[in-house]
Amino acid sequence: MKDTKADCQKEIDALKEEILLLEKELVRSQFRLDETQSITNTGSWSWDLTTGRIEWSDMMYRLMGYEPQSIEPSYDVVLSHVFHEDREAYEKNLGLAIDKREDYYLENRMTKTDKSIVKVISRGKCYTNSENELIAMRGTVQNINDFSNLKESVKRLEAYSNILSHDIKSPLRTISSFMGLIKLKISDQVDEESLEYLNLVETAAKEISAIVDDILSIAFIKSERIKKSSFSVDSLFKSIIRDSTDELTVLKGQIVVNSLPDMMEADRVKLRRVFQNLINNAIKYSDPNRPPYIEISCDVENEKYHFSISDNGIGISPENTKMIFDPYFRLHSKEVEGTGIGLAVCKTVVELHGGQIWLEQNEPHGSVFHVVIPSNN
Ligand code: ADP
Repeated sequence: MKDTKADCQKEIDALKEEILLLEKELVRSQFRLDETQSITNTGSWSWDLTTGRIEWSDMMYRLMGYEPQSIEPSYDVVLSHVFHEDREAYEKNLGLAIDKREDYYLENRMTKTDKSIVKVISRGKCYTNSENELIAMRGTVQNINDFSNLKESVKRLEAYSNILSHDIKSPLRTISSFMGLIKLKISDQVDEESLEYLNLVETAAKEISAIVDDILSIAFIKSERIKKSSFSVDSLFKSIIRDSTDELTVLKGQIVVNSLPDMMEADRVKLRRVFQNLINNAIKYSDPNRPPYIEISCDVENEKYHFSISDNGIGISPENTKMIFDPYFRLHSKEVEGTGIGLAVCKTVVELHGGQIWLEQNEPHGSVFHVVIPSNN
């Protein structure tokens, strides 16, 4: 008998310990849920239709402007916070969901206690018993104000890009072409100095136009999508090299193309930009003491295309190998023209393909840029 009592006590103690652990776990889960709700700006509610009891999460109170647990949760309170113009749609959606036992989704506005208005997504789910009777509803309300602001910012950015590309670039084009015409017309009537001034204006117009292009590309490339197609790698590089022939000839440089895969699948237009940037830089940052020598190779390994573009140019010191990919970062800003955008665009495009780009010192001079693109990008 004594033993049995002692056994029972042991069991009770073990159960108590288990309950304590479960309670702790519950507190931890609640904490994680609160944290998630606050990060995602989402409140949740549940409505037990058999008892009429409604519960709100702390975030649900905050979304309407209340301190958690400061008022009794009710449907009427929620409805009073639905912006008056959206109330009819809100009730209609909820009613339909209840009638059909379906989920509902609605974008509406809510008026907080301080009268500020926030945009939210309201979602709800119906729970039924085996007789298809509604027994409970659960749902969430997510504040999407920041997201809507973001959408508005994107719209503003688009409008801004139109201004840049049309309202600024077209007068610049006009300046450039008229400068060309003026030069033709008066070149034999004006002195060297005046001609030099005209050239300066023409160059400045071209530079501003290039800066506008760069600003646009860095602002938009991140939101662009990859448009994949299958293309010949060899002809891609041939066309890039063709564009650089004049400069290479002037500098007496050479580009050597080693083994390349036949075909690859990726966004050709965007990758062309990456390799064009890298090859242009290899020429642009060549060392005046030696003609540029550029080597291009690609190995296909572990379902990845590993391209490398090496040069014998002025090189980049090891402490700058990471920052070089930051927008507007330039090491040789005084000697060579540029905007510091090219490598940032390269990095973005490569990452959009799920790949990597990095840089190594070349021996004995220059740099090697590595670009890895997964074949199933
Ligand atoms: P930009 O050429 O317009 O300045 P990039 O983003 O293409 O912009 O390059 C950033 C900087 O990295 C350059 O200003 C230059 O200092 C350095 N750089 C890029 N490529 C090379 C290279 N192949 N050799 C030496 N320096 C380079």
